[in-house]
Amino acid sequence: MVRSNPEELVRKTMARFVDDEIIPNAQETDEKGEFPVEMLREIAKMGIFGIRYPKNKGGAGGNTTLYCIICEELARGLVSVAAITAMQCLMSTNFLFRFGTDEMRETYFLPAMRGEKFGCFCLTEPEAGSDLGAVSTLAKKTPDGYLLNGMKTWVTNGPVADFYTVLCQTDPAKKFKGLNFFFVPRNTPGLSVSKPFNTLGTRTTMMSEIAFTDVHIPDAYRLGKEGQGLNNLLSILEEIRSMTAALAIGLQRAAMDDAIRYARERVAFGKAISKYQLIQAKVANMAVNLEASKLMTYKATKMIDNGVPCMTEASMAKYFATEAACQAADECTRIMGAYGYSMEYTAQRYYRDSRFLLNGGGTHEILQTNIARWVGL
Ligand SMILES: Cc1cc2nc3c(=O)[nH]c(=O)nc-3n(C[C@H](O)[C@H](O)[C@H](O)COP(=O)(O)OP(=O)(O)OC[C@H]3O[C@@H](n4cnc5c(N)ncnc54)[C@H](O)[C@@H]3O)c2cc1C
Repeated sequence: MVRSNPEELVRKTMARFVDDEIIPNAQETDEKGEFPVEMLREIAKMGIFGIRYPKNKGGAGGNTTLYCIICEELARGLVSVAAITAMQCLMSTNFLFRFGTDEMRETYFLPAMRGEKFGCFCLTEPEAGSDLGAVSTLAKKTPDGYLLNGMKTWVTNGPVADFYTVLCQTDPAKKFKGLNFFFVPRNTPGLSVSKPFNTLGTRTTMMSEIAFTDVHIPDAYRLGKEGQGLNNLLSILEEIRSMTAALAIGLQRAAMDDAIRYARERVAFGKAISKYQLIQAKVANMAVNLEASKLMTYKATKMIDNGVPCMTEASMAKYFATEAACQAADECTRIMGAYGYSMEYTAQRYYRDSRFLLNGGGTHEILQTNIARWVGL
């Protein structure tokens, strides 16, 4: 019997789904700018939200490589749907899965795996972005739990989420050692959600501020041991960076495919523009960057799957693949000439959506600074 390789199988299944269900609707979905419930329901039916979790705990028994293949393929269709999916599979549910009580898993984690509930991940604050040591949302200990006060911002899925994983400070004097994650269900008194932000790209990915005013939660809602918030975040950072790189690969592929198709069809000075060396150079650069992005990203995911530390590799992959995605989207708009400037063509969406990738998992200035240090500077 010929056994199919799980990576090929997942890629083929996802590619078919993206070609049939996402790409034909991507433009309209993006224009509407609404949370894409129908697409997400279909994605949930395929068991994708549980791809990183074990089968006997409600997941699909996959690994980081499969997770990133899924993210890549979805991003080839529509980055915002891929981003929502990526968030649901990893940051929104990971600490709930690891540290939540059985009841929390029944009420939130398993429904999230079925796409019935959505979560999100709240780190950033108006005065604390790259510098998480400045997080000031306070979780003050009470006899039976914690009292939360503060504000989070730029929360992907914030407006539509049913539950929030929130990074708080329990003791400002301890700085990083006072950071802890907390689970907060949406209906908790004192939690309020702003209206969705009006953003440049990923128009169906809703983002907002979340305010906490005397939000009281029980002890069981602290996710992980006291003072382990930063370590817990670091435990998934390689995966977050690899996933962002995978999203960037999907976007590169979409931009390159459309640029090639257009270049073959568009005639200027009596021949297809694909015959001009300057156009060929752009496409060649896209192809080389794409190949390098894949090698770097899937090297990192294999290391994660084999339990080998890879913060440097994952950071390099995120940095390189995202810069390449921004470049590919830019070149795609140039190859399409005036049509690259039209809202009716895809190039503008790739161009806008590429900016989404720049901040998640660390800005490129932070990544460059870290990489330079890790290689010995
Ligand atoms: C589309 C999108 C989705 C997001 N989703 C989420 C989410 O779901 N949850 C969440 O918590 N946050 C989210 N964020 C926020 C994101 O994590 C932050 O934007 C990011 O951490 C950077 O923080 P900042 O925007 O406050 O920039 P800042 O940290 O204020 O940085 C501003 C500029 O200064 C540079 N800079 C900062 N420090 C240094 C330094 N030491 N050396 C050199 N340059 C430096 C940065 O690279 C950047 O260019 C999202 C943001 C975007 C745009």
